[in-house]
Amino acid sequence: MRDWVELDKRYIWHPFTQMKDWFQSDNLIIERAEGVYLFDTTGARYIDGVSSLWVNIHGHQKSEIDRAIINQIGRVAHSTLLGLGNTPSISLAEKLVEISPDGLKRVFYSDSGSTAVEVALKIAFQYWKNKGRKDKKLFVGLDQAYHGDTIGSVSLGGIDIFHSIFSQLLFPTLVIPSPFPYRNPNTEPDDLRDRCLEFFEQMAAERSDEIAALIVEPSVQGAAGIIVHPAGFLKGLETICRKYNILLICDEVATGFGRTGAMFACERESVHPDILCLAKGLTGGYLPLAATLTTDEIFEAFLAPYTDYKTFFHGHSYTGNPLACAAAEACLDIFVNERVLEKLQPKIAFLTDILTEVFQNAPNVGDIRQCGFMVGIELTRDKALRKPFPVELRMGAQVTRNIQKYGVILRPLGDVIVIMPPLAIENCEIETIIRSLEKSIKETCET
Ligand SMILES: *Cc1c(COP(=O)(O)O)cnc(C)c1O
Repeated sequence: MRDWVELDKRYIWHPFTQMKDWFQSDNLIIERAEGVYLFDTTGARYIDGVSSLWVNIHGHQKSEIDRAIINQIGRVAHSTLLGLGNTPSISLAEKLVEISPDGLKRVFYSDSGSTAVEVALKIAFQYWKNKGRKDKKLFVGLDQAYHGDTIGSVSLGGIDIFHSIFSQLLFPTLVIPSPFPYRNPNTEPDDLRDRCLEFFEQMAAERSDEIAALIVEPSVQGAAGIIVHPAGFLKGLETICRKYNILLICDEVATGFGRTGAMFACERESVHPDILCLAKGLTGGYLPLAATLTTDEIFEAFLAPYTDYKTFFHGHSYTGNPLACAAAEACLDIFVNERVLEKLQPKIAFLTDILTEVFQNAPNVGDIRQCGFMVGIELTRDKALRKPFPVELRMGAQVTRNIQKYGVILRPLGDVIVIMPPLAIENCEIETIIRSLEKSIKETCET
């Protein structure tokens, strides 16, 4: 058999990875998967506790999605949307418009969450140009936001260790504070929310003539460490956007497709964005596909005689890829046919209960944050003093490496342990993740 671990070390440059550390560690190489389980090249089995980086929804090798892709391969694997249409992209767009928040009527495809955001930013920017409002060119983002790794999306990102290196490449943006109840334990969440909203309102009142759009991860800031916003924050942002004629872009790349317990996080507060970004779970975690949805109002601002140059000059080679669209349509059908969201609710409740039971009094666990099937567990050196571990211990990475021996794959965000399983996971498998994590934290942190 080939030595996959060594070959990987020789040829692959892994994302978000200090390769010097990678060379020194014993890495798992995945060969196949089934349901919520991944299997490595030695045949060992692991629960996919972070849905293969937050993308998998119905499990691996889901027969309906497999079949949809195979059927589509029998017709055409790829054909361009530049100058042509293709059937899977049309029927998927129809379904996306149907299930997304009211008012969103048009679908622009791309291939990743980052490009979905780039497209949203460029559409918002050009929308105001096309309307003759050339001064409205600034974007507002949230503190600690994450919208992807391309230059435009990094410009709106607020996570210093990922983003500050590139600061000279980025365009200027306006930043509003996020209501982080966990970092402000002495402030009521509602007061914190209101203060952040007041900050935005004051900015909007002063600069609405220059502001094109606000972009926000609705309800949960994922990459920031699964930070859950207080109820009413998203609605408050929407109200201010409407009052001051600012476009609202919701980045549901992480929160979309049932993650928070609702199909889209926007629904939780009856929010109607002008632009919606979707990716990650869109194909059930099978193929790279993204969609940026807009209102008719925005779309119509791009309609003009050709020589007015109001066309949206943007597109990717694989835009509207038929295989990916077929997978996405099958993924959406499963939501309906298997009543996925309905069955998810008791699993969310089970997860809440077991998290509380196991970690409430654990000495090295601080905040436990949950919104639906998005969970962040913060490791702390001293619970009472809310003292973190020194960064160089890389405690989050140690805990998630150690848990592999119990047959669980997790990936941390710094010292926040993320749990984000496929929606198809069963309670007994959730329990395995949590009990294994309890052991792994004890073994790693109590030394
Ligand atoms: C993951 C993520 C992105 C980027 O998506 P990619 O497919 O990794 O480019 C953008 N926004 C949010 C909120 C995300 O969680």
